[in-house]
Amino acid sequence: MAAAAAPGTGRLAPNYAPLPVTIATADGSWVTDTAGRRYLDLLAGYSALNFGHRHPALVAAAHDQLDRVTLTSRAFTHDLLDPFAEALCGLVGPSVAGGAAESMMVPMNTGAEAVETAIKAARKWGASRGITSPTIIVAENNFHGRTTTLVSFSTDDDARAGYGPFTPGFRVVPFGDAAAVEAAIDSSTVAVLMEPIQGEAGVIVPAPGFWPSLRALCDDAGILLIADEVQSGLGRTGTTLACDLWNVRPDLVVLGKALGGGIVPVSAVVGRSDVLGVFTPGTHGSTFGGNPLACAVGLAVVDLLSTGDLQERASTLGDHLQARLDDLVTEELLVDVRGAGLWAGIDVDPAWGTGKQVCLALLRRGVLAKDTHGSTLRLAPPLTISVEDLDHGLDQLRDVLAEDG
Ligand SMILES: *Cc1c(COP(=O)(O)O)cnc(C)c1O
Repeated sequence: MAAAAAPGTGRLAPNYAPLPVTIATADGSWVTDTAGRRYLDLLAGYSALNFGHRHPALVAAAHDQLDRVTLTSRAFTHDLLDPFAEALCGLVGPSVAGGAAESMMVPMNTGAEAVETAIKAARKWGASRGITSPTIIVAENNFHGRTTTLVSFSTDDDARAGYGPFTPGFRVVPFGDAAAVEAAIDSSTVAVLMEPIQGEAGVIVPAPGFWPSLRALCDDAGILLIADEVQSGLGRTGTTLACDLWNVRPDLVVLGKALGGGIVPVSAVVGRSDVLGVFTPGTHGSTFGGNPLACAVGLAVVDLLSTGDLQERASTLGDHLQARLDDLVTEELLVDVRGAGLWAGIDVDPAWGTGKQVCLALLRRGVLAKDTHGSTLRLAPPLTISVEDLDHGLDQLRDVLAEDG
């Protein structure tokens, strides 16, 4: 059944079923619809808006750059490309294998393109070591984006059906199961690619030993560990990367979403220079990747994260968020809660209704949130949210759940 779609012109392909709110303006943690109603944004663009809407420092950086130069293509270089690469490797380099001194980056635009870039790098790195039919180990219930190759190893029927033939070379194992990863590794394996915490799947946090085990397995096998931190990275979990939670340094890290500050799509792969160094002129690229406007915003994003204050804030507010959600479980208003930092997956009692129905009820109370699967909701407020606003949103959630569904 098609969801009750907001009235439209019918010119949009129906690949989304948005909640019925038409946003006209936004500021910080709040958006305003075309009728002037205000809503607290507890989704934050799936972490693309980690710094809230129109963060003044990011908007200023974009405005300044609009008056200078916005696009050159990589046929030429421009004066922010190296500074952005330097800054991003400065921020994330210490969290990747080899450390900041040994890291480099590839600028792209969307998350999916950056994951594709990591896959291409891993395959080409494998080829340079004589592996001609490489395999990459991935997790069940993964989400890495929507390209044909990425949906080839999705385990979500909706994401895959009708899109074959699929790209071969991927082995799917249960998420969080290190023994299954070990069993899947053979001489064809070039990499393990996973989200540190699975976002779309409902904020699934693995046991603390899982990522350290992955690191050890990859070291033993001499293969690459690739973390898709498109949603989990850049402060969301209370650390710069989610992998920092476990002191695990992947060989490649994929970034996106928040890297563009909610202004422009900016993504990147950051990692070992001996791996990303497999790319030579003409072997990979992007018209828009690393464009001046993207670099200006990306530099300002890195700057916002450079002091660690926002990560600290995500951690502190995250403890508050998780404590309040735990209370809702104790009150039996929620079935389960998972999370890290300012990021939570909550399971509603299916007897109350679907996740979508909860989101509609929240919308009526002026709160934006999004369901993932069935009766699961994902909460990912801006890292800049005030504790008062966060409490307001959680009060609305509590009231919704205390009502009859
Ligand atoms: C959103 C997301 C992507 C895809 O990013 P796009 O910019 O939508 O292509 C990839 N990986 C993860 C973990 C994501 O959450």
